Amino acid sequence: MDRAVSEADLAFDHVPETDQSFENALAKARDGDRLTVDDAIELLTTGTDREGIDRRRKERVLEAADRRRAAVVGEEVTFVANLNNNVTTACNVGCLFCNFKDAAHTFEEASEVETAGFTKTPEQSREIVADAVSRGIYEVTSVSGLHPAFALDDEHREILEAHPEPKAVNYKPPERYETSPGTYVDQIAAMSVDGVHVHSMTPEEAYHARRGTDWSYEEVFRRLKDAGLDTVPGTAAEILVEEVREVICPGKIGTEEWLEAMEAAADVGLGTTATIMYGHVENEAHRALHLKRVRDLQDRTGNVTEFVPLSFVHQNTPLYEHDVVSSGPSTDEDELMIAVSRLFLDNVDHVQSSWVKYGDEQGLKMLTCGADDYMGTILSEEITKRAGGGYGEFRSFADYVEMITSIGRVPVERSTDYETRRVIDPDDPPFGPELGPKADGTPLLTDDERADRALPADD
Ligand code: SF4
Repeated sequence: MDRAVSEADLAFDHVPETDQSFENALAKARDGDRLTVDDAIELLTTGTDREGIDRRRKERVLEAADRRRAAVVGEEVTFVANLNNNVTTACNVGCLFCNFKDAAHTFEEASEVETAGFTKTPEQSREIVADAVSRGIYEVTSVSGLHPAFALDDEHREILEAHPEPKAVNYKPPERYETSPGTYVDQIAAMSVDGVHVHSMTPEEAYHARRGTDWSYEEVFRRLKDAGLDTVPGTAAEILVEEVREVICPGKIGTEEWLEAMEAAADVGLGTTATIMYGHVENEAHRALHLKRVRDLQDRTGNVTEFVPLSFVHQNTPLYEHDVVSSGPSTDEDELMIAVSRLFLDNVDHVQSSWVKYGDEQGLKMLTCGADDYMGTILSEEITKRAGGGYGEFRSFADYVEMITSIGRVPVERSTDYETRRVIDPDDPPFGPELGPKADGTPLLTDDERADRALPADD
């Protein structure tokens, strides 16, 4: 259910004001000193002593970040052969920045409204993943809506079925729905085809998988790991500051619980990534505080392989439709977010540029602003496409080789944890993945299949 946002909600305690100067903050960044939140605010704003973005100062921040990138990871630009297999769009959490979801009640058999969304059974997931594995993917990424019928496993379902107030724990039995997603354990096991790397179960999904119980996050992740889960996406982070979460995602877990889930994943031996979703109602102080929380988490766990800045896509979201925001972040803000992530997160080696969010041209530019990873092939991508972004769908290895070499960098296929890398020789086509369990170097899609999947340019 959408909730109105008042001006009072947006009168934040945290504002971009500091006692630091832009020049001091930049000097610290260039020297490789650990930055403070105030330093980050100065760099993100290009100085709180001036209104708006100062383009010359911005270029100096980007240059410092690009140098740091070269010093930390060199000239390689990595990407992974992956598939997105999202299980369901059914969700009733009501985050105001999201239009991936479809109201969960429209999925019920008794609903008079035909749902615009989808739910896959474990068997359907297995078929989709098996096809992609045979084509050569290394990783399947799966992030879904919080379907009310989803339970962790059979034991969890029994507990939820016996709950005196199922509505209070957001549970409805699978019989109510046209299609049941099964359990999380069933879905993970189904996707774990031939040992393909399964990247799934965000902290928010892990919360949903323990609702109505006193199980710890460790217990939940242990059971999922036994089913085949390999790593956990650090999404659902949005902005890790309560006063922002209360506006954009009041139904979601809070900052402390998100951190607790991430530490639990680390404790049971599951690698993680971390994200920020920025450019909506928050300001630069919130972005800087978020970076600090991620850096502190990494100091405690050493478990975060990459940081992924996600630029808010505003079209078709309640925040935009209710006039709370009129757009997403500007290109200047995007570039500064990447650069300051690189400079601030001195304990995370990899910063990702998302072509799904930025598009090819700007995505490549981000690789000169501090980023070194160019995400994955994404055989299927529903989330950004449904939110109105125009860049979803698929990038082939040939696309990657062409784009990365066009900026003078080295294309490298990687594993999810970055431990395994394969440098690709741009003079030796055809280009296809080699790291997946069934990868043999042939392209993921034939030219004809690619043409069939192509979106109209203005989709
Ligand atoms: S962001 Fe996730 S939890 Fe929030 S409404 Fe969208 S699908 Fe549901």
